[in-house]
Amino acid sequence: MNLILLGPPGAGKGTQAKRLEEARGIAQISTGDMLRAEVKSGSEIGLRARAIMERGDLVPDEVITAMLAARVSRPDCAKGFILDGFPRTVPQAEALDGMLAEKGLRLDHVIELQVDDAALVERIAGRFTCASCGAGYHDTFKPTAQPGICDNCGGTEFTRRADDKAETVAARLDAYHRQTAPLLPYYAAQGKLSGVDGMAAMDQVAGAIGAILNGKA
Ligand code: ADP
Ligand code: ADP
Ligand code: ZN
Repeated sequence: MNLILLGPPGAGKGTQAKRLEEARGIAQISTGDMLRAEVKSGSEIGLRARAIMERGDLVPDEVITAMLAARVSRPDCAKGFILDGFPRTVPQAEALDGMLAEKGLRLDHVIELQVDDAALVERIAGRFTCASCGAGYHDTFKPTAQPGICDNCGGTEFTRRADDKAETVAARLDAYHRQTAPLLPYYAAQGKLSGVDGMAAMDQVAGAIGAILNGKA
C-alpha cells in the first residue's frame, strides 16, 4: 500500500506514519528526517538545505525529488511506503506521479490531517525526540512515562528541532498554505483524498486512518 499523509507542520504526520509503519510493515519516508540527517552529516545537500530549513522555507523541488526517487527504490519499500512531508508542492506531486508510473506503482490513499493553525504552535513548541531511537514525544500530549527516559529504548538524551520555535512556525505555516494546500484539490481530482480530524487524540486519529485504509470510512 502506498500512502501520503498531508497536513501542516505539527499536524501529527510523523506520529501516525510511525504507527502505520509498525502496524502494517510499510516504510515511513520523512523527507524532513532525511534532510536533517543530511544537515547533520554535513553533506552537499545538507549544506544547501540548512539555512532554508531554519528560515522555514521549502528546499528546492529538484533537490527533494532526486532524494525521494533514490529512497523509494530501496528494498524496504517493496511492501509500500508512507510519505510524510512529501510532496509539498504541485511540481513535487507531478514528479511523484511520474516516478510511480515508471515503476508500475499506484498511490492508494492521500490522507489529510486537519488541524487548526492555533493548535499547531502548541504542538510544535512541545515536540521533542529521543536522540537514540527517534521516538517522538510532546511535553503535554505525550510525555515519557518516566521523566527523562525514553519509553521505547531507555535513552536519556532528547533533541528539539532548530526550526521548532515560534518565529519559524509562522513561516512554515505560511509555506504550507501557499505551496502545499494546492495539493488538496490536486488529489481530490484524482479521487484519492480523504480528510481526518487531526484535533482528536492520537489513538482516535489512528483509528480514523485505519478505517479509511480498510475501506470502512
Ligand atoms: P513538519 O514537521 O513541519 O511537517 P518536516 O520535518 O516535514 O516538517 O520538514 C522540515 C523542513 O524540511 C521543512 O520546513 C522544509 O524546509 C524541509 N522539507 C521537508 N520536506 C520537504 C519537501 N518535500 N519539500 C521541500 N522542503 C522540504
Ligand atoms: P508532523 O510530523 O505533522 O510535523 P508530529 O507527528 O511530529 O507532526 O506531531 C507534532 C507534535 O504533536 C508531537 O510532539 C506529537 O507528539 C504531538 N501530537 C501528534 N499528534 C497529536 C494529537 N492527535 N494530539 C496531541 N498531540 C499530538
Ligand atoms: Zn528512544
